[in-house]
Amino acid sequence: MRSTVRYSKSFLLTAIAAISLTVSACSAKNDETVDTTDDMRAFLAGMPKAELHLHLEGTLSAETIVEITNRNGIDYFTTIAEVEQALANRPPGLMGFLEHHFKSQNVMQTRQDFYDATYSLIEKLHENNVVYADVFFDPQAHTSRGIAFNDMFGGIDAGRRDAEAKFGVTVNLIMCINRERSVESAFEMLDQAYSVREKIIGLGMDSGPEYGNPPVKYEDVYARAREEGYFLTGHHDVDVRDSVKHIWQSLEIIDIDRIDHGLNAIDDPELVVELARRSMCLTGSPVKRSTDPAPQDVDRIRKLDSAGICVSLNSDDPEEFETGYLTNMLILFQEASDYTKADMTRLVLNAFNAIWLPDSEKDAYIAELKKYAVANGVEWNNVTLN
Ligand SMILES: [Zn+2]
Repeated sequence: MRSTVRYSKSFLLTAIAAISLTVSACSAKNDETVDTTDDMRAFLAGMPKAELHLHLEGTLSAETIVEITNRNGIDYFTTIAEVEQALANRPPGLMGFLEHHFKSQNVMQTRQDFYDATYSLIEKLHENNVVYADVFFDPQAHTSRGIAFNDMFGGIDAGRRDAEAKFGVTVNLIMCINRERSVESAFEMLDQAYSVREKIIGLGMDSGPEYGNPPVKYEDVYARAREEGYFLTGHHDVDVRDSVKHIWQSLEIIDIDRIDHGLNAIDDPELVVELARRSMCLTGSPVKRSTDPAPQDVDRIRKLDSAGICVSLNSDDPEEFETGYLTNMLILFQEASDYTKADMTRLVLNAFNAIWLPDSEKDAYIAELKKYAVANGVEWNNVTLN
């Protein structure tokens, strides 16, 4: 399932040094004509895509929140304006983000609520030409509120099944540990999921704060999840304290299969070499808040990409950031990076390469992407850099 491309350590260290110079010299935005911009936007919109980093709880639209809230008789978020105002007034930083995220996810209470959230998400993915997605969900955030695991999971799984059939999108589920909770609670989640584990492709991690809740805290949980057949991913928000150290833990102690975020890896050349050696893929998420002039982390993603690291673009919590869903994120990233069609195709190719499916299924997706790109004038050699 992993790419067979390997880079020598000396090659990578030389490449990283060269890239640092190149990136700083070419970060200015070019002056494309309107037609060119429209052509690029249409190209990105029509491209078949994969999403690998998407939290169900961050995909609740204002309309869905209000509908569920009123159905359940909850006394907040009863109008779209109220949801939009709360989003706009969030305190800065991760904890301000999570405060709103938790409040809106808590409107979901019944099996039907989880069904509706999942179904409408997959409909949105289809509108973005996403043909494959891994969707995260947070059992502990719901069972800790007294919701039965089977109600929550039953709704998500049925919504997934029905929407897959309706929209032709393939969706797998990744169950996430809320990292600030206890190890016992994470083991309890594995117990609750045991009978449906074959419907869940992976175990990941999210929530926060990350500092004080490092990957090693969950070493034993991850080990058991591995025995039970889950793929493993770690979640390393950008610019949090000890991020690089935590990525090393995820690689060397947890032995994860994929990294969510993890863009601070570029700060440690030895870590970049190790990521390349393992052919490890990172699910980048260059989100944009209303206070950001452009998507975050464009230069970090460009440096990792230039170093040959498998890094993809993903929308993370599309209803809670201005970047929104994947097509819009690709457009904003392209405008901030001046990436060519071939470069943008490579970032999407990276997502398909990072899917946890047999090679034959991945190859079918990649063939579709190649067909689309070549039909739109892209030289495939410029995508793969071979
Ligand atoms: Zn995330």
